[in-house]
Amino acid sequence: MTDNHPENTLNLSTNALTVLRKRYFIRDANGKSLENAEELFRRVARTIAGVEKDGNRREQFEAACYNMMSQLDFLPNSPTLMNAGRPLGQLSACFVLPVGDSMESIFDAIKHTALIHKSGGGTGFSFSRIRPANDEVQSTSGVSSGPISFMQVFDAATETIKQGGTRRGANMAILRVDHPDIMDFIMAKRDPTVLTNFNISVGVTETFMQAVEAGDDYPLINPRTGAQVKLLNATKVFTQIVDMAWNNGEPGIVFLDRLNRDNPTPLVGEIESTNPCGEQPLLPYESCNLGSINLARMVNNGQIDWDKLQQTVELATRFLDNVIEANAYPLPEIDRMTRANRKIGLGVMGWADLLILLKIPYNSPEAVALAEKVMRFINNAAHQQSTQLAAERGSFPNFPGSIFDHPEGRAMRNATCTTIAPTGTISIIANCSSGVEPLFAVSYVRQVMDNNKLIEVHPMFARIARERGFYSEELMQEIAEKGSVQEVKAIPEDIRRIFVTAHDITPEDHVMMQAAFQKHTDNAVSKTVNFCHSATREDVSTVYRLAYQQGCKGVTIYRDGSRSMQVLSVAGKA
Ligand code: ADP
Repeated sequence: MTDNHPENTLNLSTNALTVLRKRYFIRDANGKSLENAEELFRRVARTIAGVEKDGNRREQFEAACYNMMSQLDFLPNSPTLMNAGRPLGQLSACFVLPVGDSMESIFDAIKHTALIHKSGGGTGFSFSRIRPANDEVQSTSGVSSGPISFMQVFDAATETIKQGGTRRGANMAILRVDHPDIMDFIMAKRDPTVLTNFNISVGVTETFMQAVEAGDDYPLINPRTGAQVKLLNATKVFTQIVDMAWNNGEPGIVFLDRLNRDNPTPLVGEIESTNPCGEQPLLPYESCNLGSINLARMVNNGQIDWDKLQQTVELATRFLDNVIEANAYPLPEIDRMTRANRKIGLGVMGWADLLILLKIPYNSPEAVALAEKVMRFINNAAHQQSTQLAAERGSFPNFPGSIFDHPEGRAMRNATCTTIAPTGTISIIANCSSGVEPLFAVSYVRQVMDNNKLIEVHPMFARIARERGFYSEELMQEIAEKGSVQEVKAIPEDIRRIFVTAHDITPEDHVMMQAAFQKHTDNAVSKTVNFCHSATREDVSTVYRLAYQQGCKGVTIYRDGSRSMQVLSVAGKA
């Protein structure tokens, strides 16, 4: 950018600018940025406010949306930032596509996946309806190749599409635990070089979890015939899942019955999959747009500014409802389904930062209680706003027969309002901690796209260290090598307690925080439970069961050092 078109008028962090330049700014044919962050946020605000019918309201709303984004109080998911007001116009991060048991259906899904990936969205599928490997195929008198071999075709297609210059594709594959190919599915990613564009999760049922507890057998069912194929021992299958997850973090598990217990429109269809990172259960052909409030910006004088939070939730809810209108959907089926349910997913980022500002350790009962309180407040305020939007614009078209459709129910514009996303990129843009995760490290090497590496000290830590007079370059270096401040005696005890990282706290602390946020979230919570390298299979098993007992909708674990390519790594260990 030039002197009369400066790049950083909003004072964003260096990392934020690196990310924005790479994928978000409009660029010319030579790759030169044609906009800065201020112009990007204006483009998004104009497009989203453009949905407002009343001229005065439109102007006011546009200004409010611009302020909310440029102050980093709230950011919508990446596709909205990238594509709003541009020819592609696809604004959603999350899609689920149906995969039926026929060549037509499977290859239609691959084509639709390609269209979605081109626009920066992620796709989730259940492969549970595909007949198992070696089952009969009447038309060719041959044998079928089974869900796992078809997943490889999806994976290859994803690999080939470089997402039209935005980002590479991400997929979720779910297989029901009672599918005859379940053991192969659990082992599918044993070789780390295969299915690299997939996250995989086993869809477990209540029946299965009870069989695990009781040590019983459970039946495998052929989806083509509905016939029971054989019995498997539930504990054996569960142990295999745990073993593989311990080995390299996959498969995760999702609790299918819970996703369906909270399905707001059971008459419209059954939920069989989530988006790639697991936080958004959707019906086949449904899409959802997410947005996250930066909680670090909701603090005033060491206290939560509840009025500001309330106003931000109201504005963000209206913003996300408008995104549904402003969106250009990649398929007519997705257009219809998304507009009929109008799901939105408002969530949070900067949770760990907020706790630091309030001087509350992440791994304390106080933090868990506050998580519940904050999310209850946000969920209530979002639902109130959705009811108000319904008064103005009407309830979502599938409202009749939905869970809100009863005598004491209320009008709702959106079938769901809240989701906690990972905020992998938007938290970098907002310069805050991601989602509801603890700090990864007080200082670390962040590997951003294309193997660029950046060393960082957490800005709040650097500030406090200066204020309290223990800042020195040597100390920062020492912390960078260790990643954690827990053993660094030069740092006062009270500071060490609030700067805990993902590896300083126990896996149980991770699960309890996930469960606290889940209590008041319509959809699901994206969270990784971190284990140290020396954790045992038994530790992993305990956490999977705890997540089940605590009402989580799924669980994803990662044992440090168990994969060669890690997105984040502690300095010194990188
Ligand atoms: P962001 O911070 O970029 O808005 P998140 O990390 O919060 O995104 O991820 C939210 C959702 O966006 C994911 O669950 C997935 O559906 C989608 N997503 C994330 N990364 C990708 C990617 N590389 N390609 C396609 N979709 C993605």
